[in-house]
Amino acid sequence: MSALRTPNERVCENCGRIERWDDDRESWRVEEAGDTFCIHEWDINGDFLPFDDEADHTADAGDAADRRD
Ligand SMILES: [Zn+2]
Repeated sequence: MSALRTPNERVCENCGRIERWDDDRESWRVEEAGDTFCIHEWDINGDFLPFDDEADHTADAGDAADRRD
């Protein structure tokens, strides 16, 4: 049991590239190529939601929510 989260799969938030960790080779194996020229933004926390959520905008509004009637 460990508190440390070791992701064995990672997804690029920009191009949708998927890589899976290969224990035997101790390297990432490409599952889904995505964009070759992308500077991959790995979602290793699992926070990434592929769909734009309304909660996102509410969090952005912050102060404005206080003044709303
Ligand atoms: Zn990418």
